[in-house]
Amino acid sequence: MLGWSINLFRIRGIQLALHASFLLLLAYVGWEGWRDGGWEGAAWSVAIIGAFFTCVVLHELGHCFTAMHFGIGVRRILLMPIGGMAEFDSIPREPPRELLMTLAGPAVNFAIAALLWVIVRSPGRWAFSSYEANAVGFAHTLLHWNLLMGTFNLVPVFPMDGGRIFRALLATRLPYLRATFWAATVGKVLAVIAALVAIFWFHAYLTAVLFAFIFFAGETEYRAVKRREIEDAHWREVMVRFYATPPPEPPPLLTTP
Ligand SMILES: [Zn+2]
Repeated sequence: MLGWSINLFRIRGIQLALHASFLLLLAYVGWEGWRDGGWEGAAWSVAIIGAFFTCVVLHELGHCFTAMHFGIGVRRILLMPIGGMAEFDSIPREPPRELLMTLAGPAVNFAIAALLWVIVRSPGRWAFSSYEANAVGFAHTLLHWNLLMGTFNLVPVFPMDGGRIFRALLATRLPYLRATFWAATVGKVLAVIAALVAIFWFHAYLTAVLFAFIFFAGETEYRAVKRREIEDAHWREVMVRFYATPPPEPPPLLTTP
């Protein structure tokens, strides 16, 4: 499933890659924008999705740079329609380190939101033409998405950021494997509930796919931790830490008059 990807460029040695399905998302969003507002609509739609996923990459870089600070290797960041995913060489066993690495991701989103808030609130800067009004709308949309992204990732569904924080807190009292077991178990139950709510309440099928993915990712990571407990300590694992997003909906500002 994860094989079909296109390498873009490297950021401090970290390969940024696009999953092939990401191109389908771009095409779909572009088409929707074109249907609503012609070529201008298409350009705005693709631009805002581009900006949104740039924030996803920045979120992941928050995790990555903190990891690199602790001497942990980062292989790549993969962008998929359901979010971004960073692959690490190892997971720090020290709860304080894992806490810092994890918090760095959502912290980036809250910092971007704060920055946008400062820009948007600055008085009388973009008041006149419709293009400028769109720029304000763009900034607002991005601000809200960043708040949503930062908060959503703190939901305690392992291995999302909130689940990792939960595991790190448990690991201060329990053995690491037990802590992972309980974080993954609670995460799986919550993922099932969240997927059902997404399907039957919100009809948000992409979100349901996302939680299904998280469910299996939690199980996979628990097994990796267990295997490492049994085998020797030098066994290198690929740590998958992903960011997740609610499904990108076309923002209202794109319905041009
Ligand atoms: Zn994250």
